[in-house]
Amino acid sequence: MSRDPRFDILFEPVKIGPVTARNRFYQVPHCSGMGYRYPNAEAQLRGMKAEGGWAVVSTQEAEIHPTSDLTPANEARLWDERDLPALCAVTERIHHHGSLAAVQLVHNGLHVANRFSRMIPLAPSHAVGDGLDPVQARAMDKSDISDMRRWYRNAALRAKKAGFDIIYVYAGHDMSILQHFLSRRHNDRTDEYGGSFENRLRLFREILEDTREVIGDSCALAVRLAVDELIGPSGITSEGEGKDIIAALAELPDLWDVNLSDWSNDSQTARFSEEGYQEPYIRFVKSVTTKPVVGVGRYTSPDSMARAVRQGILDFIGAARPSIADPYLPKKIEEGRIDDIRECIGCNICASGDNTNVPMRCTQNPTIGEEWRKGWHPEIITSSPAPEPALIIGGGPAGLEAARALAQRGVDVLLAEGGKEWGGRVARECRLPGLATWGRVRDWRVGQLSARANAELYLHSALSADDILQYGIPHVAIATGSKWRCDGVGRTHRQPLAFLEAGNLLSPDVLLDAGASAVAAGGPVVVFDDDSYYLGSVLAELLARAGRTVIFVTPEAQVSPWSKNTLEQARVQKRLIELGVEIICAMALADRTKDRLELSCIYSGRRRQIDCDTLVPVTARLPDETLWLDLKAREADWADAGIQSVVRLGDCLAPGTIAAAVYSGHDYARTYQEQIDRDSPPFLREDIGALYAGPVKRE
Ligand code: ADP
Ligand code: SF4
Repeated sequence: MSRDPRFDILFEPVKIGPVTARNRFYQVPHCSGMGYRYPNAEAQLRGMKAEGGWAVVSTQEAEIHPTSDLTPANEARLWDERDLPALCAVTERIHHHGSLAAVQLVHNGLHVANRFSRMIPLAPSHAVGDGLDPVQARAMDKSDISDMRRWYRNAALRAKKAGFDIIYVYAGHDMSILQHFLSRRHNDRTDEYGGSFENRLRLFREILEDTREVIGDSCALAVRLAVDELIGPSGITSEGEGKDIIAALAELPDLWDVNLSDWSNDSQTARFSEEGYQEPYIRFVKSVTTKPVVGVGRYTSPDSMARAVRQGILDFIGAARPSIADPYLPKKIEEGRIDDIRECIGCNICASGDNTNVPMRCTQNPTIGEEWRKGWHPEIITSSPAPEPALIIGGGPAGLEAARALAQRGVDVLLAEGGKEWGGRVARECRLPGLATWGRVRDWRVGQLSARANAELYLHSALSADDILQYGIPHVAIATGSKWRCDGVGRTHRQPLAFLEAGNLLSPDVLLDAGASAVAAGGPVVVFDDDSYYLGSVLAELLARAGRTVIFVTPEAQVSPWSKNTLEQARVQKRLIELGVEIICAMALADRTKDRLELSCIYSGRRRQIDCDTLVPVTARLPDETLWLDLKAREADWADAGIQSVVRLGDCLAPGTIAAAVYSGHDYARTYQEQIDRDSPPFLREDIGALYAGPVKRE
């Protein structure tokens, strides 16, 4: 296959000051959760992006000084020379594949609590931080400003020494001291660093000039700037100071990387935004600078990418998530393999890794984060040495991924799905409001499987233990998924609640199958959400949009609290409020009659009654393990039938995220027919001491 000439424009080289990017694919700085604690993993992850064709590959933000300490988050660090080996490993992997390495220097100002370093956070003016730590940042005086400039210079020198080609000065996401100085709401200084626009810009300008001076003419200087904070006139706006900043500094850097602030605005999920959602805010930038411009917006379609370049909105297609879901995206476009692109679904499970202080994971790409410790390549799996056939039962994310990866390894695979469509939970959930892109989890896998001669796919094939014994296929994987419980058991109620049966009780599965029509119009429907991720709120949204009166009850303090980790919580709550859903927090279930539900306060036990015609408990799931138990009961017959192994995958083993189900299917395929050592960690562990040149003795 060869490249579609419509996409030639994406493969033009572009100069960034003294360096040249080989194409227009640019992996912007993004957190990986690997940072300074997992340097080998970080190096391998970034190297994989370069191998996949991204002309520029950036690290995550690199803290320049211990007064910028995001612990327990795990970012890059440039505190002193001891950080260099870890970052040299990163640049080496990126250069090995012919790409440019970029680093984003940051001092996090009032965004950090310095939990590890215990140093006092710094800010333009006295301020509380933006977390809940009982810590305040202190106003910087002139000597602090001169320290800050020196720290930036030192960090830039170290970054250059580590081999980076592009050095970023960062003023984005409300996470950088430079943005704090720029911002009227954070900066109420009365000296030459506060007040007027020029004064608030001063430190940013000085640090840009300092950085240029120390990095010389072999490295490029980039700026990452929030052009709009989406908070109106109290913040930076793309029509106001966002534009003024770029106009004032237009030709100073070699590249402008522009986006929205804060992170939840920059990395909006597909539930709340379409591909290219930042264009309205960033399209002005090229009119005020001649320097190349990079922007993001979850671009996964080469048509949209080529359009954004042709329309003069962007010079580089910036990506974090699309490069995570498919590190090989540029190569696939280059080789005309558009159908092979594993498109990001915009779910932000990747962000949840960083937000929970662990290496990232991805719903679409189970290999991300496993490049080093498990040696997983996103595109290549070694062929199975002596492959014996496999039978996979269940065509959800786990079964589809197991079948796909096994077929790629040369195993003859038979995939049987009891239902009338592929995708399992993904097929049902992608019909819910805002979740259409989730269908890509199914579509990509079905597409890949359909192209394999060694994969046979059967719908309408609910298999029994008898069937499986009769087939006698040597290796069997059961991926039959899970069902939502209807007995109220979850985090809050650990024992079944018999009283729930006193009125209409509807399983989330019924709503997932039949849609809102499963609930008769009339009295209120109560969604009791003790799951705390997305489903409770999406079902409430589905019902509210269908004109039902919806009451959302949760024992938590807010709607869908776990979706903070996917940067969605505030948008979820806002949406339910706007749809007229009544939200009742901090309440458990206490009793029920046909049309009333009694709630009890989780703190005081105080009771309250509400009208309830139908109750939808979204609490927990149970594995659908009937088939597994039937087969297990006949284990004595397995050998005679020619069956050597039977395992459970995905939700059927333990209900979890879609990402976990895909990972489970992939892991099965990777370790197929291998003896698994259950006593040792199934991955390499970092030898941090070696990379940091060993322990330091205190005299
Ligand atoms: P996971 O997330 O683990 O992949 P899902 O619930 O998404 O789980 O998918 C499980 C799939 O298994 C569903 O599509 C369901 O129809 C199918 N399934 C369940 N039992 C059987 C069976 N006995 N034979 C074939 N398919 C089954
Ligand atoms: Fe995209 Fe979701 Fe993967 Fe993140 S986790 S890259 S949002 S598919």
